[in-house]
Amino acid sequence: DGKSTTSITVVGASGDLAKKKIFPALFALYYEDCLPEHFTIFGYARSKMTDAELRNMVSKTLTCRIDKRENCGEKMEQFLQRCFYHSGQYDSLENFAELDEILKEHEAGRVSNRLFYLSIPPNIFVNAVKCASLSASASAGWTRVIVEKPFGRDSESSAALTKSLKQYLDEDQIFRIDHYLGKELVENLSVLRFSNLIFEPLWSRQYIRNVQLIFSEDFGTEGRGGYFDHYGIMRDIMQNHLLQILALFAMETPVSLDAEDIRNEKVKVLRSMRPIRVDDVIIGQYKNNARWDGVPFLMKAGKALHDKRAEIRVQFRHVPGNLYNRNSGTDLDLATNELVIRVQPDEAIYLKINNKVPGLGMRLDRSNLNLLYKARYSKEIPDAYERLLLDAVEGERRLFIRSDELDAAWALFTPVLKDLEEKKKIPEYYPYGSRGPVGAHYLAARYNVKWGDLGVDE
Ligand code: NAP
Repeated sequence: DGKSTTSITVVGASGDLAKKKIFPALFALYYEDCLPEHFTIFGYARSKMTDAELRNMVSKTLTCRIDKRENCGEKMEQFLQRCFYHSGQYDSLENFAELDEILKEHEAGRVSNRLFYLSIPPNIFVNAVKCASLSASASAGWTRVIVEKPFGRDSESSAALTKSLKQYLDEDQIFRIDHYLGKELVENLSVLRFSNLIFEPLWSRQYIRNVQLIFSEDFGTEGRGGYFDHYGIMRDIMQNHLLQILALFAMETPVSLDAEDIRNEKVKVLRSMRPIRVDDVIIGQYKNNARWDGVPFLMKAGKALHDKRAEIRVQFRHVPGNLYNRNSGTDLDLATNELVIRVQPDEAIYLKINNKVPGLGMRLDRSNLNLLYKARYSKEIPDAYERLLLDAVEGERRLFIRSDELDAAWALFTPVLKDLEEKKKIPEYYPYGSRGPVGAHYLAARYNVKWGDLGVDE
């Protein structure tokens, strides 16, 4: 309301994520009038910078959406005037107490809410949380902290991190970000399922043959080799992003759209899955609750592949006794319906169907019922960080990861990660820019699955 004020402090403001995502998202929210009436943004890091230098740095990364180009410069200037900087150490109660003093000056006696965005390396999370919480918590309003992955590297280290954070914060003050949950098509997954009669009845083992969660990048670990060697794609992409999508995809209907109701259902899915075995690596295959009993869920994630995308592929069962299999002159595989939800790039939802090729003869062809976002909606899609920052300011927890959810997610991956490390399993090498290891096909074949992303879709 008009009487309170919100201070947003980006801890690690000199870093890559702050520049690339956080400040631009805050500006976009400001432009859309989504931020509270009274707000101030602070950058905090060790680097020495004046307010003017921070503004200069931030100004280089701000953009306006294509449909919002008029008075863009003016809006940017107004936004930058609300940005300030304070330099300090991440483990210094004194430096955070100085920040507290400056925040108070800006809050000018209003009831203040404070949001801290920890955009710093994980080894200093706990120190920064401690200092922010002890020296710079809001005295009357709420205090919330957004934390970025990695949330540990296995069950134990994740539990230890949660335990340390909870010395200083309650669970409802911690906003664990998984930016995939802020993506338009991931958000749309529940709408698709629960507000269309035609999908939900098909959403089970009875009709679905397998589900594929695919993430690929067409570049390698350039510049991040050190981090990647230590962490790896299973921790970087599968245990969090793909598993979150899987949970939303497979969960039962929640009682309501409340954060706790949704997160309860996601935890149930995660806890009903069997941990991945070493045999299943490159691909994880899970056996789970009644709805999905026996349906293989396959994940594939990799770098330096031939293209760049994140998508969900749902392959339906064959039509029993399909009249057209024998005489169609097409190969049998064409008879499989497949629903594809492309999260990025070029957001789309399409359904592959069998269709008659127009003409006097009877030839079938695989066609798409196609919802291509850029053709249907002229509006630019907001970046995931915009939605998530807005939710954190508004206290909406639905798209953030609860600690029991995190525990359940790690429980699935920790055994196989440990096993792989102990056995020092040698990876199958594949050429840069190729379709990835051939082993992925054999593994899929073991479950009678063919990857859906190998054909030409459109
Ligand atoms: P970053 O640039 O490496 O670090 C952010 C800031 O933290 C730096 O500007 C630096 O500021 C400070 N810092 C760096 N190393 C430090 C150290 N060893 N000790 C103390 N301070 C240190 O990180 P980032 O890429 O912005 O990412 C921030 C967080 O988001 C990380 O936890 C990362 O894992 C996560 N994340 C990043 C991305 C991404 O796209 N970049 C994506 C997902 C998650 P000063 O030297 O000025 O103090």
